[in-house]
Amino acid sequence: MPRPPDADARRAVPPVICYPTGTLPPPDLALYAAARAGMQMTGEVTVAPRDARAFRVAAGSFFRIVSLDGPQVGDLNLFNAHDLRERFYSGKTRALHGSHVTTGDRLWSGFPTLRPMATITEDTLGWYGIDAFGAAVHDVIGTRCDPYTHSLLTGRAYHRCCHSNLTRALAAETGLPLDEAEPHVHDVLNVFMCTGFTRDTGQYFMKASPVRPGDYLEFLAEIDLLGVLSACPGGDCGAEHSSDAPACFPLCVAIYTPPPGALAGWRPPEPSAYDRSHGGPSRRSSGDQP
Ligand SMILES: [Zn+2]
Repeated sequence: MPRPPDADARRAVPPVICYPTGTLPPPDLALYAAARAGMQMTGEVTVAPRDARAFRVAAGSFFRIVSLDGPQVGDLNLFNAHDLRERFYSGKTRALHGSHVTTGDRLWSGFPTLRPMATITEDTLGWYGIDAFGAAVHDVIGTRCDPYTHSLLTGRAYHRCCHSNLTRALAAETGLPLDEAEPHVHDVLNVFMCTGFTRDTGQYFMKASPVRPGDYLEFLAEIDLLGVLSACPGGDCGAEHSSDAPACFPLCVAIYTPPPGALAGWRPPEPSAYDRSHGGPSRRSSGDQP
């Protein structure tokens, strides 16, 4: 198509933020910081390389995802511990907080609850910011490495992708068969992964994670959580994923309980206040879920 005469003017229109977050109730980070000060480690789960593990965190407790022996990326799924239908919504979290998350950002559940499931309370990679390539850490862009895309692109089967690791771990935790656990696995938070979009082609790129042993990303569980974490077969994701080639290291999930009363005044967030009428008849069909 020919370039229109006002092409430059159209392209020069300034952007507006899709979802200004100024009206979101802010997390009480000062209260969270005070609660963190006296917290005790009350649980620990180690995730083996190229595998995943489930863990549970009570609302009002903290959990850290910790780098142990070498640079390693983790793919995180979160569920309401009492209802697998409420799960982390990577896309809306991205729309609200941006392509990468850090301290003060929240991990939101999907519709119809749309509430904070967890709040990031500390990020030892918070110093990284956005580098010269436009990359940052902890993205909510990448969906998770998976055997379907790998098969599509290479024609080969690989069974240790994060999608499969998460599926096996969720099945083991819940007792569901693999084919029933799989549909619950969802787009992840890519913990420690360093990613961006190329400026020339707009393609999703990765580069070696700056994470080092001892680094961690810490969250407050805003509701009772069932988490599943995969130690990505890509290791630091500096070269490739979906293979056994990269050096791969374990990750730790450490759970911390604050002293009694340390979160006085805090309560798990309520589900979305939207009435779900959608402008239509209010009567629910028998198959509808509450
Ligand atoms: Zn992966």
